[in-house]
Amino acid sequence: MHEPDPADPHAWSDFDRILSGAWSKRALDDALLVLAEGVCSVAGFGVAAITVLRDSGQLEVVAVAGDPAAEETLRGQLRPVAELDKDIADAEEWGSLLFVPHEAVAGREDDLGWVPDYTPVDDPRAWRPLDLLFGLLRDSAGDVVGTLSVDIPLDGLRPDAVRLRQLTRYVAQASAVVEALMERDRFRDQVRLSEATREIVRAANGELSLDQLLEKAQPAIIKGLATDGVWIQAFDDLGHGHDAFYSTDDREIALPPGLTEVAHQAAAAGWANGQVLVISKEHEQSGLDPAVRELALAYLHTINVSTALLVPMGVGDECLGLLVLARNPGSREWNRAELERSKDLGRDLGQAVFNARTFERERRLLEETRALDGYKNQLMSTITHEFRAPLTGILGYLELVEDSDLDDETRRALNVVSRNAQRLERLVVDLLLLSRVADPRRPVADSSVNLAALAHEAVETMSLESARRSLKVDVIGPETTLVVGDPVELDRICTNLISNAVKYSRDGGNVTITLTPADDTVTLVVQDDGLGIAEEEQEQLFGEFFRSANPAAQQQPGTGLGLSIVQRIVQRHGGTITVDSALGEGSTFTVMLPAR
Ligand code: ADP
Repeated sequence: MHEPDPADPHAWSDFDRILSGAWSKRALDDALLVLAEGVCSVAGFGVAAITVLRDSGQLEVVAVAGDPAAEETLRGQLRPVAELDKDIADAEEWGSLLFVPHEAVAGREDDLGWVPDYTPVDDPRAWRPLDLLFGLLRDSAGDVVGTLSVDIPLDGLRPDAVRLRQLTRYVAQASAVVEALMERDRFRDQVRLSEATREIVRAANGELSLDQLLEKAQPAIIKGLATDGVWIQAFDDLGHGHDAFYSTDDREIALPPGLTEVAHQAAAAGWANGQVLVISKEHEQSGLDPAVRELALAYLHTINVSTALLVPMGVGDECLGLLVLARNPGSREWNRAELERSKDLGRDLGQAVFNARTFERERRLLEETRALDGYKNQLMSTITHEFRAPLTGILGYLELVEDSDLDDETRRALNVVSRNAQRLERLVVDLLLLSRVADPRRPVADSSVNLAALAHEAVETMSLESARRSLKVDVIGPETTLVVGDPVELDRICTNLISNAVKYSRDGGNVTITLTPADDTVTLVVQDDGLGIAEEEQEQLFGEFFRSANPAAQQQPGTGLGLSIVQRIVQRHGGTITVDSALGEGSTFTVMLPAR
């Protein structure tokens, strides 16, 4: 490999190319190796090693040059950064480099990882096997991000000023490479984590139940946070916990009951403080009570998890559950980006849980309403059926008795009974029809029905009444307008609307029925210039048993069920009904039905 001469600025171009050209791991690893090799050959050392600070707080040896045996032993070695502090404390400052004389190191050789098999030369400036010389690699913020150390000077002497300057130059370059390396790792983590978050947000936008949501979120979490297992527990608004756990090897990650309780408390506290908790032997500040931490660590050990992350999830002030992310022994600790992102995850998932809870609540309400509706219908139909038989008996006998010879008082009394019995019969008939058309399980017939003919028949039925009150009733439109549906039900639409128009008209008024067929609809408009309906009443018009407060309207007999029956029939036929009315001026009811 080409070694740059630190004295010659052009010699760095190779190196710059690697740095600026690509952010691949290979390129950066190569760059560090080029540097280490440069240190050996240009500054004249038998070994050069570069370490990088990992998010776990450990320095990892990532490049070793000069001596294959040293490389074999050192590469990949981890050393807590705290131990570096001991070296720094013992060190003499040689320019920007640090030198720890062998006397200071004596006694803690085991900490060093590798000691050369080396015989010092006979010179007062001789290099000793335990001497340490290193430079601190710093990022642009000035924080230590690694080290570059050298050993076995080729001339056997402690380096002079020229060589120290060369080394200083390499330390600066290595700092730049390591910073790029860390930047790249952070960037890669961020991309991976944002993808996971997006996935979860996407899942949360669907109308999922809590259990479905947890099921869907898991793969995204496993992938996004590079975990080996995850346990999610979310609370629904009835206070029940919903669990889901998943591991890459079918291991049960769910916490046992004793720890679940503790985890809930920790999650609530974590949510309140905006914190996630790391539970790992390496990580002493877990934020947990030491005894609880021991318990948690012991449990994690039994399920073969080396480090776990407890992430609270919630919305606003409310903690809605927690996530426990687990990694197996041998995996890395959680890095800073992951800790930050897991907080976002807690928030996103919290929002998703909140949505799912809202959705479930709505669905529950809907189901309850449906069940209640069904029950009401059932009750209504049973009661009205029970009424019908005795009522038929009463009406039959009334007819028989009315035909016989009666004194005036008895006849008057019987007339009252008869009128009331007929009113009751109308009510029973309407109620039975309403319960039939309100039942969503009843299919709608699909006959071809001529709506115009039905309108004419209804007008005909009302003709005596219309004539008695001098009403002008017109039907406008073609003789045949075909719609699809149930003939009996469609007949009720026409009869009810037309009889209302007649009923609620003033004597001498006008009623106009217009039928307009279009491509795929037929519009039926029933218009009168009668009493009209006050605006505040129009909203309730289609409700069951609604009757107007207008005294003029109340004089007319009625059950208040007619329009609600009409609306239900229109709806089950896939149509719409609207009303346009002004008190004292008249009303217009417009029905649109799908054409045949
Ligand atoms: P009812 O058996 O009382 O006629 P409906 O459900 O058919 O029951 O109508 C409900 C109420 O709406 C009526 O009581 C009446 O006050 C009002 N209404 C219905 N149609 C008209 C209309 N064409 N003009 C004025 N008021 C009407």
